[in-house]
Amino acid sequence: MAKRDYYEVLGLSKSASKDEIKKSYRSLAKQYHPDRNKETDAETKFKEVQEAYEVLSDDQKRKAYDQYGFAGTQAFSGGSGFGGSGFGGFNGFEGFQADLGGVEDLLGSFFGSSFGGFGFGGQERKNNRGADLEFNLQIEFEEAIFGIEKTVSYKRDAKCDVCNGSGSKNGKKITCTTCAGKGKVVQVQNTLLGKMQVVNTCPACNGTGELIEENCLNCGGRGIVSAKEDFKIKIPAGIPDGVTLRFEGKGNYGRNGGVAGDLYVTIEVKPHKSLERKGNDIYLDKEIDIVTAVLGGEIEVPTVHGDVFMNIPAGTQSEQVLRLKGKGGPKFRERGNGDQFVKIIVKVPQKLSSKQKKLWEQLRGT
Ligand SMILES: [Zn+2]
Ligand SMILES: [Zn+2]
Repeated sequence: MAKRDYYEVLGLSKSASKDEIKKSYRSLAKQYHPDRNKETDAETKFKEVQEAYEVLSDDQKRKAYDQYGFAGTQAFSGGSGFGGSGFGGFNGFEGFQADLGGVEDLLGSFFGSSFGGFGFGGQERKNNRGADLEFNLQIEFEEAIFGIEKTVSYKRDAKCDVCNGSGSKNGKKITCTTCAGKGKVVQVQNTLLGKMQVVNTCPACNGTGELIEENCLNCGGRGIVSAKEDFKIKIPAGIPDGVTLRFEGKGNYGRNGGVAGDLYVTIEVKPHKSLERKGNDIYLDKEIDIVTAVLGGEIEVPTVHGDVFMNIPAGTQSEQVLRLKGKGGPKFRERGNGDQFVKIIVKVPQKLSSKQKKLWEQLRGT
């Protein structure tokens, strides 16, 4: 199914206020909640409404959506479009930048890489930017729900301490032989209009006009060494699976004073053996025996807050969904928890003892 415009999903115009968005979401979510709406497409519509709300209720994500459409929201959720990006919902905690600048920066570096190189001068600074790094980080189901601090260890290019990043053994420099110290080289190119002179940045000295006299022994003149980095990251409560967090400046060190690259960490949430999560609500399928379904009773069910007893009313039907209020995960930027929805599956016995069989036969007679 093709994705519908988020505003269309919520039946609103692009200028809708936050209140209108919230109102429309609430009434539509109520209307399509699988708990009460038994139509076949109710769940799909419910998810569609939730997704639209998730984006439009968040100022930054909404701005990205307005500007870039679905591609903008993909960037926020770590989609392939721009090679991952920050996640708009979670800015404001230390060490993590997720403003729109992220998307723009990515566009910049995306185009920068195609138009960069030793172009018509003025581009050399970009070449010194350290490379971005990325890796996936697996976390437990409960860790995603309650949030956690984790120390990640990875290798990155760091500044060589021996030469302070200069790459030089003794700090002495000589004039670049390629450009004779000018920092620029003139190249002649054949074009349709005839020969054309193009002035490029000198590739040997990168435009500085100087070369290192003797290379630093520690880094071989690169000014860079590979180093292990231990870095503590805060994973916010309620983080969805597949979100990419961006940590500015935690990628590779930039040469010759260039800025460091960024680090992208994509969060992989391990599935739980029985619980499933949608936003801050938790879903569980639970089998009960037919006698408890008919007569009612109490059963024990797992929640993210530990096992709890749940009351089963007499006459509970199979596939009926019961709600454990407040037993979901913590709400993001709000007080309280989501709920847990327990879908009851009534188990019909397949093997009966002769005594049981008699009792069921008696029931048939009544
Ligand atoms: Zn060095
Ligand atoms: Zn040179």
